[in-house]
Amino acid sequence: MSEAASARVAIVTGAARGIGAATARRLAEDGFAVAVLDLDEGSAKGTVEAIESAGGRAIAVGADVSDPAQVEAAVTRVAEELGGPTVLVNNAGITRDNMLFKMTESDWDMVMDVHLKGAFLMTRAVQKYMTEATFGRIVSLSSVSALGNRGQANYSTAKAGLQGFTKTVAIELGKFGVTANAIAPGFIETEMTKATAERMGIPMEDFIKGAASQIPVARVGQPEDIAHLVSFLVSEGAGFVSGQVIYAAGGPRA
Ligand code: NAP
Repeated sequence: MSEAASARVAIVTGAARGIGAATARRLAEDGFAVAVLDLDEGSAKGTVEAIESAGGRAIAVGADVSDPAQVEAAVTRVAEELGGPTVLVNNAGITRDNMLFKMTESDWDMVMDVHLKGAFLMTRAVQKYMTEATFGRIVSLSSVSALGNRGQANYSTAKAGLQGFTKTVAIELGKFGVTANAIAPGFIETEMTKATAERMGIPMEDFIKGAASQIPVARVGQPEDIAHLVSFLVSEGAGFVSGQVIYAAGGPRA
């Protein structure tokens, strides 16, 4: 391993649960010291404990990714406690679904703030550690919803925006050994999809069955499916893959 990559410090946002928690656990297994960042430091402790009991190294960091001061403080703390972060996974996300005619400005703003502003602020804060190390890996969570999804004008716009952000970061930071890629998952079984089922008044079991019947691999995704792809994209050997959007949806169509 090159000296540049040997620091091996990763930040995963929204890592208290779901895809973020599985990704944090996986990166710890891969040998990274992991900053488990979530809105509430207390809620991130469960993931930290899981990592530590498996023999890994992690710290819980509380921060709202849409708040510039909290982001700066969080990244500085990670650099001081674990070392300069050279891997960033922009995973924190929320939904505020509604049909366009019922969508409020606050539904719109909150979703833009967490997904888009959050990824921008986090990436801006970590890029200096990456360019100094001449090594970096940025992975942002987009979604199949980027292609359009009923009731998600805000979310699909944010997830499409992250694809443009990823491509631009890949162009700007490539010469410093930094790659940026996006993963666009299909249906992954987490609290987020559970909340969608509840909102639609469909029992989660039926929601999963219905989704799986439309997916070529005949099942819905699990957080570990996405963690596996993150693990590849942040690996040293993936340095020639950049600016890509990888759809992980169990088939060719979203
Ligand atoms: P999840 O279970 O709802 O977890 C999201 C995590 O992000 C929660 O721990 C949440 O904390 C945290 N978070 C929310 N706002 C935050 C903020 N401002 N600052 C820091 N952390 C914040 O979601 P998931 O299903 O694992 O999804 C993870 C990512 O994948 C999201 O970006 C999502 O849009 C994307 N995605 C998911 C699916 C899917 O089917 N599940 C499909 C495509 C894309 P709180 O619990 O405190 O709110």
